Amino acid sequence: MTNITFFGGAGEVGRNCVLVEEGMSNLLLDAGVKLGETDEYPLISDDEVRKLHRIAISHTHLDHMGYLPFMYARGCRAQIYSTKPTHDLSQLLLADYQRINRGMKFTNNDIIKAMKMWKMVEYGEVVGDGLKFSFHKSGHILGSSMVLVQGDSRLLFSSDVNDRETKLLDPAEKNLVAENLIIESTYGAPGDEHPTLKNASKMLCDSINKTIKKGGKVIIPSFAVGRAQDILFILESYMSSGVLEHVPIFVDGMILKANRIYRQNVIYARDEIQKRILMSDDDPFKSKFFHTPHTKDRSDVIERGSAIIVSTSGMLTGGPVLRYMEKLAGDSRNLLMFVGYQAEGTLGRKLVDGQRHITIDGKEIDIKMGVEQLSFSAHADYKGLLDIVRSTKRLKRVFIIHGEEDKPRELGESIRRMGYEVIIPKNGERFRI
Ligand SMILES: [Zn+2]
Repeated sequence: MTNITFFGGAGEVGRNCVLVEEGMSNLLLDAGVKLGETDEYPLISDDEVRKLHRIAISHTHLDHMGYLPFMYARGCRAQIYSTKPTHDLSQLLLADYQRINRGMKFTNNDIIKAMKMWKMVEYGEVVGDGLKFSFHKSGHILGSSMVLVQGDSRLLFSSDVNDRETKLLDPAEKNLVAENLIIESTYGAPGDEHPTLKNASKMLCDSINKTIKKGGKVIIPSFAVGRAQDILFILESYMSSGVLEHVPIFVDGMILKANRIYRQNVIYARDEIQKRILMSDDDPFKSKFFHTPHTKDRSDVIERGSAIIVSTSGMLTGGPVLRYMEKLAGDSRNLLMFVGYQAEGTLGRKLVDGQRHITIDGKEIDIKMGVEQLSFSAHADYKGLLDIVRSTKRLKRVFIIHGEEDKPRELGESIRRMGYEVIIPKNGERFRI
């Protein structure tokens, strides 16, 4: 008999955390936080945290692993498992989270405690006893995984999943065998359809070329892990082939550190990227088009001619991107191009919604630069999610989480029509599977 309890991520996007229990064995799937105006944490009690045996981390976004230091501060002794890129990138992101964290505090020592309990496993390797589990490619970011749990019955935890190939990553693995599936629903409504990567890339190139022709600069705010590497690889490839005008691409902020970890873990990227680097000595991470700023105030970038700037933070909540905005926002030749999700309450969201002034370090700035947004989602869209459901062998029951407002319900209706039992859990609810 297997029980699952949703401690977070049900009916919301953030603080993913699901406990699987069978007999004396238990396994926690993800331990995330929900970042917002006030941070929220999973509902798991400290007592339950101390009883955990194993934790599987699907990937290195904070809404999937940001709660770990808090757990080890409270006496957690569980062994953590993930792929190597997830381990390596988590260290970087947890240290950054500690710096920017506006919620409950944790120390560097709490991060170290968690990292010491971390075991790296390969895709497909089966670990654990009682409840056994394995990691399978989920196509979302480097090292990201679905987790397949095998006890009395089988449970597939999709976590954040992308069924489409990107420049860097293989798509999510299909045809896994599980009677139960926990699936995300970020883009789970029938109207949610992403443009193809090719179309989105073409639109990006068109906008950049127009800006360059006017003599302007393009600012692309980006999250350090995942989106930044996707965008840099797109820019590199279209610049190499001559579709994109040749101008320097300045890479700034934590993206530089994340790139180094991506490069060290390139064996987890698509074969084509590995071959380019390992066999033909053509390393896209070291592209001649990429540059780093040399001055603290970024004047070497700001005072030169046309350029593309890819910098953290992705939602303009901090980071060097604000230095560029301060100096470049007032020039109508320039372009601000959003390539990622802009959360409610962030400066990025306000600009997408039409606000045309910002305050940086007490200075009021009118935005005269163009503001555009393109979708480069690392999540499957409605059709993609249904494909993942359809491809899961022997599937009977689907739990739908990780979606805002009506998304879980809308996706649920479609999955129910396909003949599966559908459950839309609430946080705190427990089910026998
Ligand atoms: Zn994610």
